[in-house]
Amino acid sequence: MSDNEYQLETLSVRAGGVQTQFHEHSEAMFLTSSFTFDNAAQAARRFIGEEPGNIYARFTNPTTSMFEERLAALEGAEQCVATSSGMAAILSCCMGLLKAGDHVVASRSMFGSTINLFNNYFKKFGVETTYVSATDVTEWEAAVCPNTKLFFLETPSNPLTEISDIAAIAAVAKGCGALLAVDNCFCTPILQRPLELGADIVIHSATKYIDGQGRVLGGAVLGSKKLMEPVYGFLRTAGPTMSAFNAWVFLKGLETLKLRMDAHSANALQLAQWLEQQPNVARVYYPGLLSHPQHALAMQQQKSGGGIVAFEVKGGKEAAWKVIDNTKLLSITANLGDTKTTITHPATTTHARITPEARAAAGITEGLIRIAVGLEAVVDIQNDIARGLN
Ligand SMILES: *Cc1c(COP(=O)(O)O)cnc(C)c1O
Repeated sequence: MSDNEYQLETLSVRAGGVQTQFHEHSEAMFLTSSFTFDNAAQAARRFIGEEPGNIYARFTNPTTSMFEERLAALEGAEQCVATSSGMAAILSCCMGLLKAGDHVVASRSMFGSTINLFNNYFKKFGVETTYVSATDVTEWEAAVCPNTKLFFLETPSNPLTEISDIAAIAAVAKGCGALLAVDNCFCTPILQRPLELGADIVIHSATKYIDGQGRVLGGAVLGSKKLMEPVYGFLRTAGPTMSAFNAWVFLKGLETLKLRMDAHSANALQLAQWLEQQPNVARVYYPGLLSHPQHALAMQQQKSGGGIVAFEVKGGKEAAWKVIDNTKLLSITANLGDTKTTITHPATTTHARITPEARAAAGITEGLIRIAVGLEAVVDIQNDIARGLN
């Protein structure tokens, strides 16, 4: 199923589906670690790649392949490589495409583990990273070195929902012969398709909205066949492969992705507008608000604002913790992309291990709260937050 033949809603439900001889209507889960061959000659052909087909589940599994094809259709990518987690996707992408001596330019506003991976591990193997502003394209241009191979960003960023201009940064990458990878976890292909905007690679933590119900871990790397070949080569050798069970959960998750993303966005916009009117709220960060400094860019690049809202309460950490501790409904957890609304205090959790100076520079104040808006009634979410706020 090609992406110009059908709409995204249809691809979410139908793309990549394969029926076996049993004519099952729902996609089958193949719980098998290996596959058999008709004879020795076929085994030989499969192993040297002369004949396509499954060999061993570290390489491929039919359920995982169905998920890969469905997500590839949604992102408009030639190929998808599914991985055991979002971090495994970033690891596989970089292990496949980078070598010692290469340089990476990355957004300062990235997921904490992504920054740790670049700083503590890739650096050990001779890959250096320069961090730049998510929003200032001139900083990306200025950071380019002769050995720059990869640009890496996340948009909207976590937790302040800064928007990176994908098309503008892709143009800079193209100009210096570097690849642009975009972590599309917050938007999913329903709200934003980075490859259409000029990115070379899309990364996903499927753990978040693609599952959508907080059950399993998984990730994906997407791009051209040529770029995905070394990424898949690393995966089948090193083994951060997605399990068949998790792939089956994600296949089913994709079928409702459009409905859920629209509902997350609608709830988040309503909540953000309400938060802006609360006297004890100093500032609200949400790309769908007119007050967001990059509202116009967000609305051009994304179909809607997405499900993440951050806001700063007056009174610093004490006031923020009071809001969190007075909730009865919301889940106090750092996970996001779930049907259940979650609430976190970034300064003391997700961003606790960076220095107070770096935190301040990143705009993560003591009064900041992040909400990953779920699918409950907005009025119930508002009442739960209002209790500690007023
Ligand atoms: C959660 C997350 C990741 C990591 O994904 P895991 O599935 O937890 O490994 C990467 N990027 C972003 C933006 C995330 O939110």
